[in-house]
Amino acid sequence: MEVVCQGYRLYIEPVRLILHASNISFTETLAGGDQKHVYIINEEKLMISSYKEVINYACTRCFKSDQWRNDNPEDFCFDAIPFSDKNLPKLEQYYLKLADAIVAGNPPPSDPAEFLSEYVEILKEKRFLAGRAWTPCDIFLWEIIKTLDAIHQKPKIPELYKFCERLETLVPLRRYLVSSDSYYRPFTEKVPSIFMKRNEVFQKKLPAICHFVMSEGVLMASQKKLADSNELVEFCDHVPFSCYPKKISKGELTSLLEIQKKWNVLLNAMGRDFDWISHHLSSMIEREDFVRRLYNISKKCKAYPHTQKTFFAILRNDFMYHSLQNRWLQVEYNVIAITFMPFSDKLQRLHKQIAENYFEEQADYHLSENMALLEEGLLAAYNCYGNPKAIVLIIVLPKFETNIFEQRTIEKRLFDHGIHCIRASFEDVWKNHKFDESTGTLTVFGQEVGLVYMRAGYQPDHYVSEEDWKAREVIEMSRAIKCPTVDYQLINFKIFQVYLARDEVLARFVPKMEEREKIQENFAKFWELEDPKEIPKILALVEEDPSLYVLKPQREGGANNYFGQDIIDKFKTLSHEDLSTYILMEKIDSSPHIGFMVKNKNMVVSPCTSEFGVYGYILSDPEKMIKSNVGGTLVRTKPTSHSEGGITAGFGVLDSFIYE
Ligand code: ADP
Ligand code: MG
Repeated sequence: MEVVCQGYRLYIEPVRLILHASNISFTETLAGGDQKHVYIINEEKLMISSYKEVINYACTRCFKSDQWRNDNPEDFCFDAIPFSDKNLPKLEQYYLKLADAIVAGNPPPSDPAEFLSEYVEILKEKRFLAGRAWTPCDIFLWEIIKTLDAIHQKPKIPELYKFCERLETLVPLRRYLVSSDSYYRPFTEKVPSIFMKRNEVFQKKLPAICHFVMSEGVLMASQKKLADSNELVEFCDHVPFSCYPKKISKGELTSLLEIQKKWNVLLNAMGRDFDWISHHLSSMIEREDFVRRLYNISKKCKAYPHTQKTFFAILRNDFMYHSLQNRWLQVEYNVIAITFMPFSDKLQRLHKQIAENYFEEQADYHLSENMALLEEGLLAAYNCYGNPKAIVLIIVLPKFETNIFEQRTIEKRLFDHGIHCIRASFEDVWKNHKFDESTGTLTVFGQEVGLVYMRAGYQPDHYVSEEDWKAREVIEMSRAIKCPTVDYQLINFKIFQVYLARDEVLARFVPKMEEREKIQENFAKFWELEDPKEIPKILALVEEDPSLYVLKPQREGGANNYFGQDIIDKFKTLSHEDLSTYILMEKIDSSPHIGFMVKNKNMVVSPCTSEFGVYGYILSDPEKMIKSNVGGTLVRTKPTSHSEGGITAGFGVLDSFIYE
C-alpha cells in the first residue's frame, strides 16, 4: 500500500498512526499540492482519495490486521468495532476542524475541554475508549490531544495524559513514536513541531544554560592527568541534567507525598522491630557476609547500655509510572546516603526560568524544598544529641569523591548554623577515634561526635579492611546519633520489599486495612527465589518474555541489576544458594517522552523515561516518633536505551517536573 501525502503532520498523522499501530506495511510517498490532499493507492493499485474514505480504508484494514487482534483478544473486539463506527465521525470531524484552524492561524474550534469532556467520562470508566480494545477513535483522540498540546491548548485533565501514555504502550506504535522522524515532523510548513522548536532554542542557549547550572553550584568533580605530567588535577563540570522537565499531574504528586507520610511511619516501625528483622533476615544472614556483619553490629549494640536510642534517617521512595497499568509503582525505598537533595531544588527553579524566559510558558510549579527539609531534619537530629559543641561526622569513601559539591552544599548549610563537619573515611575514624566505654561518647580527631552522617557504607566494597568494620561498629555502639542507624540500614535490603508485598506482613506495621490498601497501590509484583522447587517455574516464566522482569541482588548504589537475557543467564549459572539472595521484580514500563539531556555540555535529544523520588525524614526514640516530615522530590531521567538511571553511575540525568 502506498500513502501519498505531504511530509507534514497535520491531516495525515492519524492515518500514519492507525497503520503503524496495526503493523500494516505501507510506503509513504511525499507529494506536493494541498496538505489536506491525502490519498492511498491500495494493493489493487486503486486510488482512494477522499479523506473520509482514506480513514475508512485504514480503519477497515486495521480491524482485519493480526496486530489489532493480538492487541485486543477476541473477547473485547466485538463491541470495539461498533463503538468505533459510532464515535469516529465526531472525533474525525473535530480533528479536521482543529487542523483547519491551525492552518488558518485561528484558535481551536469550540472549547477543547468541553469537547473532550464526553471522552474523559468514557475514559474514566474504560481507560481505552472502547474498553480494553484500542480503536481508531483512540488514535484520533490521541492526535487531538497531542495537537492541542503543541499549540498550548491542551486541557489539564489527568485522564487525557494517562490515556496517551497508555496508548503509547502499543508496541508498533511506540516504535514509530520514538523515532526522531515522527517527533520532529512539523505540523505544517508554518507550524513547527514543539520538539523542533525546543531543540533550536536549547542548542542556541546551551552554553548559557550549562553555565547557569554551574553557577548554581550543581557540579560534579573529576580528576584528569595533565598532558605531559603525571600530576592529577581536579576539574569540575555540571551534573548531567535535562533542559526540560517531565510532566506530572498535581493529583499524582499530592498522592505520592501523602504515601510518603505513611512510609515514614512504616519504615520507622520496621527499623524498630529487631526481632522481626532477625527473623526475616535469618537466611540472608547465613548467605551474605555483608548482611551478617551489619546484623551482628546491630545485635551487639542491643547488649550495650550507652548506644544511642534515638534513630534518624533521611528517606527517599522511588517510583516509576507503569503506563500499561496506569499507576505509579515503587522501584525501591532508600534509607542511606540519599543524594541530590540540594541540586534537585536548584534545577527545578532553573527549569521554571527557562520555560518563562525562553518559551514564555507560565507553567504551574510545586517548588521543591529539599534543602529546607534536609536542613530541618539534620538540625533536629543534631539538637537531640544535646551538645552544641559536638561535630557532625560525615562518613565518606577514601577515594576521590565526584559528588563532593553536593555534600559540601549540605556541610555549608550546617556551617551557616555554626555546626562544624569533619569528613572522614572508616579508616580515618578507626585511626583517629577515642571511645569512652563508660558513657558511649565518641571523639574523632579530638572532637566529640554528635551526629554521624553516612554518605558511604552501603556497599560491601566500602569496607576494605577489618578496621573499617571496627570503625562502623564503634560508630554504631556510640551515643552519637546516626543517619541512618544500622537498624534502619538493615531494612533497606531489597528482600524487605518482597516481604512487605505480603498483606499479613504489612498488617503487622499498618493494622488499618484502608491504610494498607493505599500503600499497596504502588506495589509491583515480586517473586521470591528461596524455594528451589519454584525456580524452574519462575525461570519458564522469565523465558517467555525476559523484558518483563528485573533481577536484583541485595545491593545499593546502581548498576547492580540484571535485565532481559542476563536474568536467564544468572538463573542458569548461579547456585541456588546464591540465587536465593536475589529478588525478581516485575519491570516497570513507562511510555517514553522526548528528553533534552545534557552531559559534558553536549545535548542528546532522545526518548527517555523518568523515575520520581519523594524525600522525607524520620527522627524517633523507642517510644514515639519525635519528628517526621516529607516534601521534596527528585526526578531522574534516562534514555530508554539504558535499563538503569543512576546519575553518578553515568546513565541518567537530573531532571525536575512541572504539573500537567
Ligand atoms: P539501587 O539500589 O541500585 O538504586 P534500584 O532498585 O533503584 O537499585 O535499581 C536501579 C535502577 O534500575 C533504577 O533506578 C531504575 O532505573 C532501574 N530499575 C530498578 N527496578 C526496576 C523495575 N522494576 N522496572 C524498571 N526499572 C527498574
Ligand atoms: Mg535506586
